Amino acid sequence: MPIANEVKKRFNPRLFLIRLGDYCNLNCAYCYVNRGQGEISTDTLDTLIELISKWVIKNADQKVYIAFIGGEPLLFRNKIDYFIRNISKVLKKRLNKVSFKIQSNGTLISREIVSWIKENNIRIGISLDGPEDIHDHVRRDMKNEGSYNSVVEGIRLLKLSKIEPFVITVITRYSYNKIDRIVELLNHLGIHHFRMNPILPIKKEHQNLALTPNQFFQSIQQLVASLIKLNKKGFKIKESNLENLFAAFLGLTPRNICFRHPCGAGLDMLVFNYDGRIYPCDNLISNEFIIGNIGSTSDINELGSSEVIYKLISRVPPKECERCGLQYLCNGGCLARIWNEKKTINGKSSWYCGFYRRVAPYLFEILLGEPEFIKGMLKSK
Ligand code: SF4
Ligand code: SF4
Repeated sequence: MPIANEVKKRFNPRLFLIRLGDYCNLNCAYCYVNRGQGEISTDTLDTLIELISKWVIKNADQKVYIAFIGGEPLLFRNKIDYFIRNISKVLKKRLNKVSFKIQSNGTLISREIVSWIKENNIRIGISLDGPEDIHDHVRRDMKNEGSYNSVVEGIRLLKLSKIEPFVITVITRYSYNKIDRIVELLNHLGIHHFRMNPILPIKKEHQNLALTPNQFFQSIQQLVASLIKLNKKGFKIKESNLENLFAAFLGLTPRNICFRHPCGAGLDMLVFNYDGRIYPCDNLISNEFIIGNIGSTSDINELGSSEVIYKLISRVPPKECERCGLQYLCNGGCLARIWNEKKTINGKSSWYCGFYRRVAPYLFEILLGEPEFIKGMLKSK
């Protein structure tokens, strides 16, 4: 299919990340944000409200997800409030076609913030890397103090108000062999859904936390064992990357855009940066991946003809992938990791290659040995 047709078919963004600014109250060891004092202006927010509401009205049959990210988005709460208040005035009844989410480090959640989240029907994602020793090893504040206690208190307040936070856990070389403890804690805190992401070591200083593909494979083995144990005891806890991995393995459509080929970067998802630049993915924030500018875009559709999107969609996986039985599952791996390893998107990620080759036979083994677990996990698919 010619690339232009393929773009036309696939360019349908439904996930908009709004990066409000890049400052944060934490100083995590693996943070990939280049920290400054930048913050989105009210003018940029007004333009975004116009662009996004136009898109929602035009695409009335689909739901649009708007996620506020940072830095720490709760430091920009007045901006989130402004955005929601004003887009609600434009969309009126159509507001039910929009879902808002905040991806937070969880340290600033107070009773008052919980009421505000509830009032505005905002979903919330919290970063928690495990029990205190594991979490505080990497997620410390500017005074070098651990953030574990404030995050757990934030989760407690949310749960008290019947808000279900989604937890993101980053796995590093320090934690890959402690997955049973991480899952136990999340279950103990009443978390029903979480995602276990391998660290993406973008900067030199991340290297001492980087995981080998085999170490992440071992994390997956521990994760499966822990979930099976808890599920057999009647606990309902799920991990979303595993769900998506199995869905992709079985030829179902994975919900997570990272498991589609081409992935959803720039097609299903757009990132609006506080300085006006637009990127395809929050892991592809660099000059090579600028799709456009908020100020010079009058319709989101225009972004579909950006050269960057053409480049992403016409990416050629190497010959080795074309001959590989796992291409349907992996296709060379995450573009951000390929870019990070090779400074091109036209190759494959050696990291993902190693990981998929290890994990695929294991997925098959679980499929045969634990069909009830797989059925339970994919029930809603
Ligand atoms: S570049 Fe990687 S992180 Fe971004 S959407 Fe694609 S697979 Fe996901
Ligand atoms: S496993 Fe390796 S060779 Fe196979 S598709 Fe993935 S990156 Fe390519």
